[in-house]
Amino acid sequence: MDKPADALQRLRRVHEDAAVAVLRSAGALSRAELTQRTGLSRTTLFSIISELIERDAVVEVEALPAEPRGRGRPAALIALNPSAGLLIGLDVGRRRVRLAIANVAHEIIATGMADIPAGADAPAQAEAAVRLVRRVGEEHGIRLGALEAIGLGLVGIVDDPSLPAGTVPARHAPVARRLAEEFGVRVAVDNNARLAALAESTWGAARSVGDLVYVRWSVGVGGGFVVGGRLLRGAHGAAGEIGHVSLDPEGPPCHCGGRGCLERRIGSQALLEVCAARGIALTGLDALVAAAQDRVPGVCEVISAAAADLGRILADTVVQLDPERVVVGGEFASLGSLVLDPIRQAIDGLALPKIGRRIGVTPADLGVNASAMGAIALLLNEEPAIPGHLRP
Ligand SMILES: [Zn+2]
Repeated sequence: MDKPADALQRLRRVHEDAAVAVLRSAGALSRAELTQRTGLSRTTLFSIISELIERDAVVEVEALPAEPRGRGRPAALIALNPSAGLLIGLDVGRRRVRLAIANVAHEIIATGMADIPAGADAPAQAEAAVRLVRRVGEEHGIRLGALEAIGLGLVGIVDDPSLPAGTVPARHAPVARRLAEEFGVRVAVDNNARLAALAESTWGAARSVGDLVYVRWSVGVGGGFVVGGRLLRGAHGAAGEIGHVSLDPEGPPCHCGGRGCLERRIGSQALLEVCAARGIALTGLDALVAAAQDRVPGVCEVISAAAADLGRILADTVVQLDPERVVVGGEFASLGSLVLDPIRQAIDGLALPKIGRRIGVTPADLGVNASAMGAIALLLNEEPAIPGHLRP
């Protein structure tokens, strides 16, 4: 039998761990918010926070004067000590790799980007990622000795989120293993569109939204669902692949093996072909978006019709998942109402009108670094591995 004092000490540690875990996934919070989220009593929570502050495990930060609500000073916020650990997020795409570096207090302290040569294989992608981390680290004077873990976003189906060195399967292996070996830390992996969804719900357009449908409309069409505050991965790592919902079983073949996929209809290549057939020659995605911004005759019609197709699929998704918000990312989202209005109309007109009218459809907030930031959010949302020096 434990002595009562030991049991009390253990209970206190459980409470401490709960408070640290909440700060890790949510970022800076007021004492009141932290009390509510941990479910601890005010007295217990305040006593634990005082002790964590004494041990330098957490710090008090000044609250941003977000909105002038009444009088008096804004309550100070509590955050994990930024020097307690660094996290790296990498987004390895087909043509470039993007990097974000953050501390455990949710502050993004550096970002960077490097091109990957066309047709590069996985080992070449891994080298590009390693070089980018080293270069940005040096440029910002960041000591990678404090690195705790790396989150890695990849293209395609990612069904094994945690890849400790030596157990890495399939095609993710070279990139994940190389990073784990180079930096001597754990590497967590997920699909990069899903990670962008997680980032938008952590820092972006759907901050604090527990139920979110995110779609990224670009060269391809990807997506991610956050359900009850957690990223939905699916049994086979394919949750959120909105682009491969079939609109037409007799339609053109898709690289996924299906036919008539949404991506084959509204991905940038398909839209460029439609424009070309109408005598509008454009060189690629950027030119297509620029032409729509310039209101080139014909282009806007092609894109808004594509947005209506996307809207119909999103409306189906909304009926099934009942999210609080739909967030549209990718280059096409920068066209604003041209793409958002047809999507809103499709959702407003769905079979459950009471729900449809209450769902906000908003453009994504985080831009090109969303997936790299989502890779960091993936690490922050994991079951907490309390950094060693948080312990006295
Ligand atoms: Zn497909």
